[in-house]
Amino acid sequence: MSEEARLREDICLMAKSLYDRGLTAGSSGNISVRLSDGRLLVTPTGSSFGRLDPARLSSLGPDGRLIGGDKPTKEMPLHAAFYETRPSKTGAVVHLHSCHSVALSLLSDIDPDNMLPPLTAYSIMKLGKVKLLPYFMPGDPAMGDAIRGLAGKRSAVMLAAHGPVVSAKDLKAAVYAIEELEETAKLAILTRGANPSLLSQTQIADLVRTYDVEWD
Ligand SMILES: [Zn+2]
Repeated sequence: MSEEARLREDICLMAKSLYDRGLTAGSSGNISVRLSDGRLLVTPTGSSFGRLDPARLSSLGPDGRLIGGDKPTKEMPLHAAFYETRPSKTGAVVHLHSCHSVALSLLSDIDPDNMLPPLTAYSIMKLGKVKLLPYFMPGDPAMGDAIRGLAGKRSAVMLAAHGPVVSAKDLKAAVYAIEELEETAKLAILTRGANPSLLSQTQIADLVRTYDVEWD
């Protein structure tokens, strides 16, 4: 099976898995993956993660123009910003409208520079610091500008009242990382107000150094 055929299958399988577990609903969420020739495979606008067709995924040239398949998601600026600002580290980008992450983004006492409390090692290992970005109208190109404004220093962001966007070296890594973001947001809400024990600064520093994640 060619690289492209395998990735088309993988995008649809992983999207369905996310959908079946309630991690994004309706026609929300989008995925992009970069092929070794520089093209992007992207989930189409208005499509549901529950029933994607590998043959109809959008295929974009390195210049961002549609060269095959259906029209891409209107949230493409989110994806493009990660490929532009983290070119050597970004092979895939995943965006969800996942319930607990959105709930956490609505709370008034969240640190916008480091949205997730340090509850578990895995969230730090897979995400680094997660930046909370402001609310934008869906499809507003300013969403991409907000990610560009981070100058490639974060691999994961949360759009307030909307959902997380996570980049990684490949599709599997991006999906696993965004699942960790949602699980950690769920833990943060479950333990909120209960004075949970947090990882120490030394424990955090050990993880950041060992796993080389973004923590500036
Ligand atoms: Zn969205």
